[in-house]
Amino acid sequence: MLGPVILAASRSDRMRRLISAAPVTKQVVDRFIPGETVDDIVPIIKDLTARGLELTMDVVGEDITTPEQATAARDAYLLLIDRLRELELGEKVEMSVKLSMFGQALPGGHELALANVRPVVEAAAAIGTTVTLDAEDHTTLDSMFAIHEELRKDFPQTGCVIQAYLFRTEADARRLAAAGSRVRLVKGAYKEPAEVAYQQKHEIDKAYVRILRILMEGEGYPMIGSHDPRLIAIAQELAHQAGRKLNEYEFQMLYGIRGDEHLRLAAEGHRMRVYTAYGTDWYGYFMRRLAEKPANLRFFLRSMVSK
Ligand code: FAD
Repeated sequence: MLGPVILAASRSDRMRRLISAAPVTKQVVDRFIPGETVDDIVPIIKDLTARGLELTMDVVGEDITTPEQATAARDAYLLLIDRLRELELGEKVEMSVKLSMFGQALPGGHELALANVRPVVEAAAAIGTTVTLDAEDHTTLDSMFAIHEELRKDFPQTGCVIQAYLFRTEADARRLAAAGSRVRLVKGAYKEPAEVAYQQKHEIDKAYVRILRILMEGEGYPMIGSHDPRLIAIAQELAHQAGRKLNEYEFQMLYGIRGDEHLRLAAEGHRMRVYTAYGTDWYGYFMRRLAEKPANLRFFLRSMVSK
């Protein structure tokens, strides 16, 4: 019940100002977004990779309003990639990007986002790693898939995300489950209307399994983006049925959520990639994490009261 309310608040400027200014917010935010700058995040990258984990890095930010902000987003990723070059971690650390942060919603946004994201994909390829395009709300997806297809002409390893809660996703999965593709399947984190998306958890979970089967039986590289223990067990079974080896798919989870499970899967020999967000514009990302689990909101509110 609370989830949709929090997701609506995630798009409210008034709530953004209120929550961002709350004196205790930062310490709660740190659980999910463990740094603001590249210098903050490099030690975390070193620590997690030393423990056998892989990473996908998100410089937080979305829904920007000027082309200059889009250029700044591009530059923030280029700065990160520059630091990654020194670490020589190759594909152990890839990038996740939100096209809305690269200008997709501005006038001429499709071309602007493509022009801004291309240098990031090029720079990532030059250090032996990849970029995955995150999935945002359903109105942005045709543009995201078109940009993905365009980038793949030169950088076939560019990945994208599909969301199990959308009715369209089974068809997208069939199209994308081709040789050389990298596809992350998630449940979906935005507030979507009943005309385009399943609303009930059990419907979303069933759709997730159907789509996962398509990806596992296809020829691409499935990336299972979920913390759900049932879905993780089903993914292992489907991978086994499809005859996939451990390095022919990977698990992905968010930094700060089920950290023990990250290490357990890695210790079993699985590729386990931790989606690690950093930066100062954390509001939208943080609110989606609150919406996913009401206990997070209770923890957040308690920390404000007990201050
Ligand atoms: P759930 O049923 O929501 O959760 C299963 C269990 O995981 C819960 O019982 C709880 O123990 C734990 N858990 C889940 N979420 C939280 C939380 N916030 N705080 C604490 N515990 C939690 N969504 C998009 O729409 N677009 C994207 O591009 C995208 N990229 C993602 C990348 C990765 C690597 C991951 C893991 C998720 C991504 N998501 C994305 C978010 C996703 O859509 C879900 O909202 C989120 O993963 C919660 O769903 P779940 O599969 O973990 O299952």
